Amino acid sequence: MSLFSNMYGSVSNKELDLRKEISNLFYGASDEIAKGTVGLLRIMRKDENQELIQCACRNKITNEPDRDSFCPYCYGFGYLWDEYKIIYYRNDDSLKNKEQVVFYFEYGTDITAEDFIVEIKLNKDGEPLLPVQRTKIYDIISSDTFNADYGRVEFWQITAERRRDWSVWYDVQNRQHN
Ligand SMILES: [Zn+2]
Repeated sequence: MSLFSNMYGSVSNKELDLRKEISNLFYGASDEIAKGTVGLLRIMRKDENQELIQCACRNKITNEPDRDSFCPYCYGFGYLWDEYKIIYYRNDDSLKNKEQVVFYFEYGTDITAEDFIVEIKLNKDGEPLLPVQRTKIYDIISSDTFNADYGRVEFWQITAERRRDWSVWYDVQNRQHN
């Protein structure tokens, strides 16, 4: 049962402020526990032609990113990126494919299918452990805004699939070698 399923049919009521509902869900309200989770949005850098920027670690001949030694610039992605702290709500129940999950973001987040969602390790209060430990990386499969009748973006719904990425284990392996 999707948390939002009952909202889809009822947005014609212009009094209902979904941005506010989402904010209460994420950050809590007097009658609601905060259910947002801290994570990272990995946004790929682009040049002036909107092309992804290749990392200098790529092999001159094969053009493969360096996976033998850990590249501190791209983490083996082969492209340069920046990460930003985000708050999301994750819904695991709505999809049959267990490798896929649905994330919800607030209206102000700017997301494209080229970006990635990164889960990080949190303490029991939901605060990120430092230094940041990345636990899972998700490929964005589709990113859709949910708009109210009059066109205002109310929230983002992202379908994403877990990426098998060895770089999330970097910190672990690094400790073993030291
Ligand atoms: Zn690199």
